[in-house]
Amino acid sequence: MHHRSIDTPQAAVLRQIEEISDEMISFLRELVHIPTVNPPGENYAAGAELIGSKLRQFGYETHFIAAEGSSEHSERYPRINVFGRMPGSRPRPCLHFNGHFDVVPVGAGWTRDPFGAEIADGKLYGRGASDQKAGIAASIFAVEAIRRAGVRLQGSVEQSGTVDEESGGFAGVAYLARHGWIGQDKTDFVIITEPTNVDRVCLGHRGVYWFKVVTHGRIAHGSMPHFGISAIDHLAEFLHQVNSRLRPSLATRKTSMPVEPPGSRYASINVNALFGGQPEEGPQTPCVADRSGAIFDRRFLAEEDFEQVRGEVRALLETLREKNPEFRYDLEDLMIVHPVQTDPACELVAAISAGAEEVLGYRPALTASPGTYDQKHVVRIGNVHQCIAYGPGILDQAHLPDEYVRIEDVVTSARIMALTALRLLGTE
Ligand SMILES: [Zn+2]
Repeated sequence: MHHRSIDTPQAAVLRQIEEISDEMISFLRELVHIPTVNPPGENYAAGAELIGSKLRQFGYETHFIAAEGSSEHSERYPRINVFGRMPGSRPRPCLHFNGHFDVVPVGAGWTRDPFGAEIADGKLYGRGASDQKAGIAASIFAVEAIRRAGVRLQGSVEQSGTVDEESGGFAGVAYLARHGWIGQDKTDFVIITEPTNVDRVCLGHRGVYWFKVVTHGRIAHGSMPHFGISAIDHLAEFLHQVNSRLRPSLATRKTSMPVEPPGSRYASINVNALFGGQPEEGPQTPCVADRSGAIFDRRFLAEEDFEQVRGEVRALLETLREKNPEFRYDLEDLMIVHPVQTDPACELVAAISAGAEEVLGYRPALTASPGTYDQKHVVRIGNVHQCIAYGPGILDQAHLPDEYVRIEDVVTSARIMALTALRLLGTE
């Protein structure tokens, strides 16, 4: 083992993390206390204000950015993001930490107060504790430890707290990227502080294609169905095609991305919703259904071409129409998200891997996510390609009752974030 002098900037900063860890956890508790529930997007102004006042106190120039003009932004539920900038001795490189402060609804099954931020057995409980208010606290205090250690960074640090990640991020990170707050002409590196566990770095995510298929028939009396055409029967035929032809083919396609869990390395399709005929509630009258449909969630791989992904759905529908001219349908795209993956050999991944190794004693695993998060907006709109997710908390905990984050993990990831910032931005 080599001996490191106590006077290195790294050692001084790590000492400061110990000094301010209680302060970090009490800030995290304050943040968990604010029920920033999405939907509908409650208390966003209070969440942004708490983060913004902390950033201002820690020397950042701070801006509150309302997502004016976006459909989600309303008087009742304003979409307020917060952005802070701490200039270094030069503007570049610029490291941007982003965290979303919206949380999913509480749901049933809690044995703790979901917004009580109770601490027991080294765990802090609350909705959003893991996903991902702990990440926001860790990144703010990681950089504060550098400042309190008296270490001057050469490059600049930015932090943003954003809304609506859980519902697509359009009034959050997408809005910031679209309006130039995050972008290739000013931002070099982005760390999204989603829960990846302390020893994993997430490089990106698979693609998403949500689509709706509606089948059409002809209404008739249910006692004489031969006079009608059942849209439900048509839909059933399509579902059969999906299950017997598409699904087995998808199960043979595997990505080389290190998606966790490994079962999600395959292309997949899920029926998210099904409708047709008369509404379930209320009395039924005998009718042949003239309209039916389903909503599908197709996850595609970086190795798949999107036009082919959509094309094979269309081809299945066309096959049915050729066999039966009465088979009429509409195919509608609901959402398309392309896969993203940061180059594992880039400077950002190298820096965080080295920082993690210094703190943990081993290299972190490089992974990819089965579902998407705000990285898509950073990469696709902001054109910033060195973007990863890294933060405390276990992803499996996200959205569960009795969500918690281990306090030791928050401190550990703050250490790793601080060493990463030192390495990427350089010191005076
Ligand atoms: Zn999240």
